[in-house]
Amino acid sequence: MRPRLRLVHGPTPLWRSDALDALVGTRVWVKRDDMTGGAEAGNKLRKLEFLLAEAGARQASVVVTCGGIQSNHARATALAAASLGLRSLLLLRTTTPSEPAPLAGNVLLDRMVGAELRLITPAEYRERGALMQRVAEELEARGERPYVIPEGGSNALGSLGYEDAMREVRQQLDLGLGPGRDGFDAVVHACGSGGTAAGSVLGAAHHGVAPEVHAVAVCDDRSYFEGVVARILDDSRSLLPEGRARAKLVVHDAFKGPAYAVASDEQRGFMVEVAKKTGLIVDPVYTGKALFGLARLEPKPARVLFLHTGGLPGLLAQADAFAAELAG
Ligand SMILES: *Cc1c(COP(=O)(O)O)cnc(C)c1O
Repeated sequence: MRPRLRLVHGPTPLWRSDALDALVGTRVWVKRDDMTGGAEAGNKLRKLEFLLAEAGARQASVVVTCGGIQSNHARATALAAASLGLRSLLLLRTTTPSEPAPLAGNVLLDRMVGAELRLITPAEYRERGALMQRVAEELEARGERPYVIPEGGSNALGSLGYEDAMREVRQQLDLGLGPGRDGFDAVVHACGSGGTAAGSVLGAAHHGVAPEVHAVAVCDDRSYFEGVVARILDDSRSLLPEGRARAKLVVHDAFKGPAYAVASDEQRGFMVEVAKKTGLIVDPVYTGKALFGLARLEPKPARVLFLHTGGLPGLLAQADAFAAELAG
């Protein structure tokens, strides 16, 4: 048996709202993976069940990972690691590495659990794999046992978290909690490092959840993510039996907005409208852009499983950006 931790409080709900259907223009079941846990919640926790189990099996003393300054992945890793008695070292990308990171959102949570933060420039971040390797060697020289987790927890092992999430959805379908036993027409989710897409592709068709996975890119572009997901799927051959059915991957890169972690006025307006009419909170970095993309998609799948992948701390860290939408 592959080692695995229980970090996710599952099964997470399949949430329905007629008001959301009306806003988005199709029938949507929201898989509430924003509720996989407390402050550590989000999609990364599913990947960390496998990754941190391997860290434990290797008797790691410290976990090394990376992300943007407000990385949900880095925060989930730091909090889950702390709960297991492991330290964490986070390489976080910022254009102002010489200034202290503002104590807000994910950074506040990282600091509360005592994660070591190293701020790095976008240029350094491009070499993140090599940089994390150097940090690991530095830690080893000090007698530590480091375990390196790639950006977003997105390697073959981490992607098993979403393969397994699709099994969880299959059980919910069998219990009558979805549109019916034949499942959905598509899984739709925000895509930032490719692991959620790869795992969903591995699980959605195999477990009879949906024949297609629509990954809404929040950075980079379609050819980039097609390549990333193909590499993860290739590497996953050693972890899963051969010959299983895979869902079709469709990457959308027209809904990224002005930049990574920056939403357009229209996107923020949409998020506020969703919140007002349905009570559902989506974030401006990932889930808000993905749901906005789904609402703009033509044609739209008729029965959608939308993965709410979390991201609340990132929203709370950009409160000021919403002042205009909330004025008056
Ligand atoms: C990381 C993240 C994603 C993207 O998932 P990947 O597996 O990295 O593509 C989506 N939503 C939220 C809230 C995230 O933190």
